Amino acid sequence: MNLLRALDSRNVLYRQHQTNLNEISICCPFCEERKESEDTRFRLGINIQNGLAHCFNCGWKARAPYTWEALNRVFNVTLESAFGEVDVAQEEEEKEHQQIFEPLPQGFCLLRWQETLKAPLDEFEAAAKVYLERRGVTEKQVRQKKIGYCTSGKFAYRILFPVWDETKKFCGVVGRDWTGKQKLRYLNSKGLEKVFYNAHKMAKWTGQVHIYLAEGIFDALALERAGEKSVALLGSSLTESQLSSLQKFININLMADADGPGLVSILKTADILSDAEKRVKVIFPINGKKDAAEMLDGEIKKALTQNNYSYDAQLAFRIRHAEEKLKMGEKPFWA
Ligand SMILES: [Zn+2]
Repeated sequence: MNLLRALDSRNVLYRQHQTNLNEISICCPFCEERKESEDTRFRLGINIQNGLAHCFNCGWKARAPYTWEALNRVFNVTLESAFGEVDVAQEEEEKEHQQIFEPLPQGFCLLRWQETLKAPLDEFEAAAKVYLERRGVTEKQVRQKKIGYCTSGKFAYRILFPVWDETKKFCGVVGRDWTGKQKLRYLNSKGLEKVFYNAHKMAKWTGQVHIYLAEGIFDALALERAGEKSVALLGSSLTESQLSSLQKFININLMADADGPGLVSILKTADILSDAEKRVKVIFPINGKKDAAEMLDGEIKKALTQNNYSYDAQLAFRIRHAEEKLKMGEKPFWA
């Protein structure tokens, strides 16, 4: 098995050294068992060529083959070196992937939620946490989805959401400004319009599942908290490669944003999915809320059962009409 693919398969993030591609770093999985504070800053360096590894936090050190044995134990993988068997087709695929997507940004750090005596949250972590709490994101989601932040480079002062595709390859990050002062609220690394946020979970879901397709990451996270299987579009409409990753699913539910651009995007996406012979439903927010992210769990559950409509030509007509009504400040049909 190849080390980088093995890390991806476990959703373990790694940074690559900018000039020496043989050097990577990960958040050290040994710090805590060595009674150090948890590493969220990628302090375990690993040379994938010779297997030398060293953590700058807990001091853990190893060389091959012990490095691979230790990683196998903590990540439950089967490495004998960093370069497992890779066939020609796989190699081509890897190359293509690297041309489309960017690696993890250099300044990425995992976000901590709880402060400890040894390591209190710094001002950036605290601000990012306040922002996420305000939007309903939970500690469990932060941990499971490896949500991070950055204070340098082009993603500075943004909360970063790592994205893996349905084969669990790392594809990049979505960066959300937490200061309210940056010109772009969202900044994505390149290529992300080809994949969904949360796509890495799709492989586990059977084709019978009712999958929820949301406009943004916070909507998908809200749907997930309400117990639904959800992914988020990472662009303004469904791309061809996103459509092909939905191949096995029949029932696709679109969670609408109750504003003009949201409705335009729903129409586009619903048309593409209907043409692909999917059974499409559209769900609208309730209680005057704008989107799933604004609703509480109970409200989402209510909207899913009471405010869902099968998509057909008639609904498309009503949605277009609703868009006009919203412009004039009038109530749309679902409110
Ligand atoms: Zn360590």
